[in-house]
Amino acid sequence: MAPTVAIIGAGFGGLCMGIGLRRAGMTGFTIFERAGGVGGTWRDNTYPGAACDVPSHLYSYSFEQRRDWSRRFPAQPELLSYLEDCADKYGLRRHLRLNTEVTAAEFDGRTGRWRVTTSDGERRTFDVVISGVGQLNRPRLPDIPGLADFRGRSFHSARWDHGHDLTGRRVAVIGNGSSAAQIIPRVARLTKHLDVYQRTASWVIPKADGVYGERRRLAFRYVPFLRAAERERVFRFLEGVIYPALVDGWSRNLVLKRAREHLGSQVPDPELRAKLTPDYPIGCKRIVIDSDFYPALTRPDVELVTEPITRIVPGGIETAGGRVREVDTIIFATGFHTNDLLAPIEITGRDGHPLREAWRDGAEAYLGIAVPRFPNLFLLYGPNTNLGHNSIIYMIESQVWYIMGCLRLLASRGPMEVRQPAMESWRRALEAALARTAWQASCHSWYKNEAGKIVNNWPRPAAAYRRITRAPRPDAYRFG
Ligand code: NAP
Repeated sequence: MAPTVAIIGAGFGGLCMGIGLRRAGMTGFTIFERAGGVGGTWRDNTYPGAACDVPSHLYSYSFEQRRDWSRRFPAQPELLSYLEDCADKYGLRRHLRLNTEVTAAEFDGRTGRWRVTTSDGERRTFDVVISGVGQLNRPRLPDIPGLADFRGRSFHSARWDHGHDLTGRRVAVIGNGSSAAQIIPRVARLTKHLDVYQRTASWVIPKADGVYGERRRLAFRYVPFLRAAERERVFRFLEGVIYPALVDGWSRNLVLKRAREHLGSQVPDPELRAKLTPDYPIGCKRIVIDSDFYPALTRPDVELVTEPITRIVPGGIETAGGRVREVDTIIFATGFHTNDLLAPIEITGRDGHPLREAWRDGAEAYLGIAVPRFPNLFLLYGPNTNLGHNSIIYMIESQVWYIMGCLRLLASRGPMEVRQPAMESWRRALEAALARTAWQASCHSWYKNEAGKIVNNWPRPAAAYRRITRAPRPDAYRFG
């Protein structure tokens, strides 16, 4: 009999998994989603300027190529509507349990099944649990003293307050990663004054974005080969040119030169340029891809503040030296809790073993998918499967097809659990590959946990991951 499946999350990962199941004729699954709709990160992040920096034809499912992307890099509304359309087209709506957060999942060794508890207090039993929660779903507010005393309005970039008009206000944006770089140019057009608080400078390369012209749109619409060719072209460029830059390969100096030229051409003031020049190797932190960020910082009504923040006071933000800059709105573009994957869900494996405990030195999983002592638990976009250079959707698809192979195996052989030796050889290979990456350098980034262990990123080309996840190796698992 086909196993019953609980999928957690209805973003790109969870929906792709649902599609995989439906295509295999399996209907015994439920997709639990804590929000009121599908879309995951593309539902959460509605800040002005929210867009992807991987081109549309690659940042989409290989089997569901949109014929009418409006522009080269998709903006949030277009991605959200793509995912909504996928949910409809593949009949996923009837499997969705919206506004329902999974709070716990416990493996029962006696029955070989998972008990899943949701926020409404309900408990249901499934053969398999698949996490599609990803790595960027819990906003991180910084621990700055005084925040509770702030008299104005404050919110996180992933919880944008659309009811709060920024026109004519004095605003602070804290952070200068990928989200901030998109927010700042849009907000600067509205505000009376904008302070941008930068703790560490980002490496930035230009984004060759643009709306597709009428001819290009028609060509993509009616010539499927052109869509496939565009996808392939972008994939090869990212694997062949951007990836080597992250592992000290041939293109490292080329990408560095591009970033330096971009800064030099967009920021004429040498003092501002010096503040914006990173002091760590390119690629160590996520490279920001944006062409509007630097020009916004050169506006007379925008100040780049690099003195450390000491505290938030009722009327503004105080920096080292005691200066207070008054603001009525603070926007935290301060990223996400990225290292404690799956938290706060209480996952308990075989013999009452908590996942929290298994991961106390940092999250890890065989192929980023399976964890010893957690039979029939599979992860999408799990530990060490994030990319610094290519489309995460490609990784998710690799994982979905791999998990489908696992479901076929466990349907005939019983609950499957990855063996320790397989996990250990995976860990050794991963560590050796991670040691060659730019992420190892001494910079602080969301890819590393507090102990400095890289828990988020995949260190080899995306195509290499596809090769090793093509089919599960039964000898890596024990069954029953
Ligand atoms: P992020 O890259 O983690 O950036 C957070 C920013 O907040 C950093 O500049 C960080 O400074 C700063 N920060 C954190 N705590 C602070 C504090 N206490 N004081 C001052 N500054 C503080 O988060 P994000 O920009 O939301 O992006 C997260 C990831 O989402 C990206 O790396 C990317 O993978 C994805 N994303 C992609 C896009 C896109 O496709 N264009 C857009 C948005 C997000 P430090 O650097 O010093 O830590």
